[in-house]
Amino acid sequence: TIKLDPGAALLLDALHGAGHAAYAVGGCVRDSLLGLDPHDWDLCTSARPEQVMALFGEEKCIPTGLQHGTVTVKQGGRLYETTTFRTEGAYSDGRHPDAVCFVPEVREDLARRDFTINAMAYSAEEGLIDPFGGRDDLAAHRVRAVGEPERRFEEDALRILRLYRFAARFGFAIDPATGVAARALGPHLDCVSAERIQEELLKLLAAPRPGSYLEPAVLAVILPELEPEKQPERFAELCRTIDRIEPTVENVPARLAALLCPLGEAGARKALRKLKCSNALTDEVTALEREAGGGAGSFLLGHESGHSIARPIACGNRVPPQRTVLGETPDTPVQTPCVTPVSEEEAPGTPGSDQTLMAKRLLGRYELPTIQRLTALCSARHPEQTGAFAALRAEAERLTAENACCRVSQLAVNGRDLMAAGVRPGPGLRQVLNALLEAVITGQTPNEKDALLAAAAQFSAS
Ligand code: ATP
Ligand code: MG
Repeated sequence: TIKLDPGAALLLDALHGAGHAAYAVGGCVRDSLLGLDPHDWDLCTSARPEQVMALFGEEKCIPTGLQHGTVTVKQGGRLYETTTFRTEGAYSDGRHPDAVCFVPEVREDLARRDFTINAMAYSAEEGLIDPFGGRDDLAAHRVRAVGEPERRFEEDALRILRLYRFAARFGFAIDPATGVAARALGPHLDCVSAERIQEELLKLLAAPRPGSYLEPAVLAVILPELEPEKQPERFAELCRTIDRIEPTVENVPARLAALLCPLGEAGARKALRKLKCSNALTDEVTALEREAGGGAGSFLLGHESGHSIARPIACGNRVPPQRTVLGETPDTPVQTPCVTPVSEEEAPGTPGSDQTLMAKRLLGRYELPTIQRLTALCSARHPEQTGAFAALRAEAERLTAENACCRVSQLAVNGRDLMAAGVRPGPGLRQVLNALLEAVITGQTPNEKDALLAAAAQFSAS
């Protein structure tokens, strides 16, 4: 049974009152039948866009895509995409249908939709309109193309990615004929815009366990550099790693980093650019690649090699972009004005312990959510070390909650205080601040003004 959301019910009533046919359609009907709460309610109607605008008034309507028949109507603080029944031709530019044709019948509109589970409409008066057996496919946990799959994927190749996205989201099987067509027509994805591909890929990676839905024949088209078909073993391992990362929206960048792992930091950046990912996402994923990747791969391996985590991340003006906290430190020696190597015997949680120090160094460079993603990624790559990464994450969370000093900006002194105490301005000042930070995070100096000024006097004298 479907319970219309109040706003949708109101708009449908108004459309019916004006003599138009109108239904809730697509995702909201599918999700309602699955017993899920739809995140938005799309409507379809026989009314033309201008009739919809006239009925609800200009101030309630946003003309989102009039040429495609879509008006967004505001109702009770929510937005309802209201689209005129239409058919559409091929998407020869990979973005928009070449021509849309408004039609009087909801069944014709449902026929243009991609999968049977997405091709159902509902109104309180007529109940469920389900000409393609969507309800049966839902019950059978199956995603199946509406009509002839080859033709539908030729019209719009993005549907190939959508197939895996919806199947992964619900953990459904793929109808055999639909799957055969999707694999065969995968190469058609190369004329679909990067933005549309990126959007579907990110949604696929947000699914509970996308691993078995990352079809090599399809990935080979959208991310050929991964060579999923030439290196099936490596690709299968990537898929298992992805599935080990907890499926939250926050973890999507970690899953993307897991997928792009074989490309390294530079290769991942290139792939993300090609997919036209935002700068924020690109920077996040490459940071994860950098910290989790590299020879050391994990802070535990760093621990074994004995030196990397005891080193400060930087004492110069800026952290060079290639330097990592978790990964292997570069061979070039780092200036270490005040770090004494951390003794292995110290208990975790004490200021100088490896884990606390590591968490502080990470917090010095990254926001907590990035560290949470990083530990999720590292733990998925090294499942045998899950406990250690969970502990590192918990330590970063604890330090954040108690506002522990991890950055120069959190020191109890600033540049002005140091200059007032006689430190000369210029690059040396920055170095003293960095040295003070190092002294604080290693527990040698408390983060208190007098102690820091005394330590600063020593550094400047030496
Ligand atoms: P979600 O909950 O992820 O938004 P949805 O079913 O609403 O799921 P949308 O991408 O928002 O998915 O699309 C809305 C509806 O439009 C779909 O349910 C489907 O009927 C139709 N649709 C969307 N994209 C296509 C496409 N490329 N080809 C055919 N039909 C499509
Ligand atoms: Mg939707």
